[in-house]
Amino acid sequence: MPHQRRCAVRSILITGGNGGLGLGIARYFLENDETATIHLGVRQNRENAQALSSKFPNRCHLAALDVTNSADWTATIESIVARHGTIDVLVNNAGLHRDHLLATMPDDAWSQVISSNLDSVFLGCRAVIPPMMRQRNGRIINIASLSAILPPLGQTNYAAAKAGVVALTQTLAKEVARAGITVNSILPGYIETDALTEMNDDARKLARQGIPMRRFGTPREVAAAVFFLACQDASYITGSALKIDGGIF
Ligand code: NDP
Repeated sequence: MPHQRRCAVRSILITGGNGGLGLGIARYFLENDETATIHLGVRQNRENAQALSSKFPNRCHLAALDVTNSADWTATIESIVARHGTIDVLVNNAGLHRDHLLATMPDDAWSQVISSNLDSVFLGCRAVIPPMMRQRNGRIINIASLSAILPPLGQTNYAAAKAGVVALTQTLAKEVARAGITVNSILPGYIETDALTEMNDDARKLARQGIPMRRFGTPREVAAAVFFLACQDASYITGSALKIDGGIF
């Protein structure tokens, strides 16, 4: 299949592998690139990731990874490189939001959101750069959010973290461009996953009215872009921030 040949990659780590987007991205790679070995980073509650791993027992492995923990990162990357020889793609996907108006935001809502969404990307990128430099090849895709550039009320913590991810991506892209490593970010709008479970029907209806396509996106629609950015044909794209949001401006 020509698509598979063009997008051949080997060893791929996707964080937040128990969530809707992480699973969707993993499934897309497994179904569209038979050479891909997926490492799904999960910290706990592995039921969803376990089910995918059972479906692809030789190509989808779970890795215990709390993305806010530097030691976990070191151990995970060392283990992948020891097992497969390379780490070809890192998808920094894990993240969470805890919305509050700034005036009443608890300290831990600020620090947890910054740590899970931004510190995590710093730690992950720092962990994979040395092996990718040795390989003279690598793809890093950071899942930011539309909130980075169009922040809604109540998301000062999340918007600041995701804007930080976009800035980190652009800076790192320059630092590693000559080593054959590309670094890009994706800014999803509303995507149907557990992250939206707090939205009631009225909030969903209102949100849809603000989307030119009048619908939320699917994990698969984000996964297809991640897959493209990870493939060899995307070799001249770096430092970009790609909106995937049904046309919101
Ligand atoms: P989910 O809530 O379904 O999944 C998020 C995943 O991140 C969970 O599996 C969670 O793990 C994991 N996670 C959070 N903190 C950590 C941590 N410290 N260590 C390891 N894993 C962690 O959300 P989505 O799949 O929708 O979100 C994926 C990414 O996409 C996030 O970065 C999110 O901000 C971003 N995004 C999502 C949008 C959407 O509309 N869905 C819109 C814009 C951006 P656990 O299962 O253990 O809780």
